[in-house]
Order: sequence, then C-alpha cells, then structure tokens
Amino acid sequence: MDIRELQEKVIRFRDQRDWGKYHNPKDLAISLSLEAGELLEIFQWKSQDEVEFIKTDGEQRQRVKEELGDILIYALTMAHEFAFDPSEIILEKVKIYACFYGLTAVLLDRGQQFRKHTGVKAALHKDLIKTGLIEANWGG
Ligand SMILES: [Mg+2]
Repeated sequence: MDIRELQEKVIRFRDQRDWGKYHNPKDLAISLSLEAGELLEIFQWKSQDEVEFIKTDGEQRQRVKEELGDILIYALTMAHEFAFDPSEIILEKVKIYACFYGLTAVLLDRGQQFRKHTGVKAALHKDLIKTGLIEANWGG
C-alpha cells in the first residue's frame, strides 16, 4: 500500500466515525504535538543503555510503535486537511536537507560552521546571494 492509499484509508476511517468535525488544523497540530510528547515520555530520563534496551524489548518497542502510529495518523490527517501529497512533502523536505548538507559543506570550506539550519540559511543569503555568488532564487 502506498502512502496516498494509506492516507485515504485513515481519512475514510475518520469520516465513518464523523470525527472530521474535530480535525481542524489547530487541534490536529496540538494532537500531533501531544502524541510526540507521549513518544518522548518513553525516553525521558533514560540512559543510552536504557534506550538501547527499549529498541530490543518487546513491550517497550510496542509502546514506541503505538505512539509512532498516533503521530503518523495525525500527520497524514493534517496533510489531508491542507491537500498536501504526503509523498511530495517528504521528498521536498529530503531535497531541502540534501541542499543544506551541500551548502553546509561549501560554507565549511569558507570557514563558516553552523549548528542550525537558520544559520546556514542566513549565511546563504548574506555571503552567497547578496554577494552575487549564486542566484537569489536559491534562497527560498
Ligand atoms: Mg498516543
């Protein structure tokens, strides 16, 4: 089953229960964040060894799986509400990360190192676009 079919199945399940009236973008965003918090709670205060245990323990793995399921369902529902194709938004994001990785390497060659994407983006505009080294339509 591809991701679009999966999204349709989630929306059909929701609509059969008339839950769509609750699924406005604000409440979906809140729900997505809450479910991400439930996933985070599994790992809260855990050492690296305990995290490794979670990856192998059947019961712990099931908890992670269930929270990921909640997150994915809300993410697919949110994408549906905005008429976004889930495949497209994932692939676009991967392309952006790939560009940032390449750009980070260029900036590193120029002696600039950033920990966050916002720093890379600011350097892109300041040092590469404003100076005319690359065209403005790269800046996004
Ligand atoms: Mg949950």
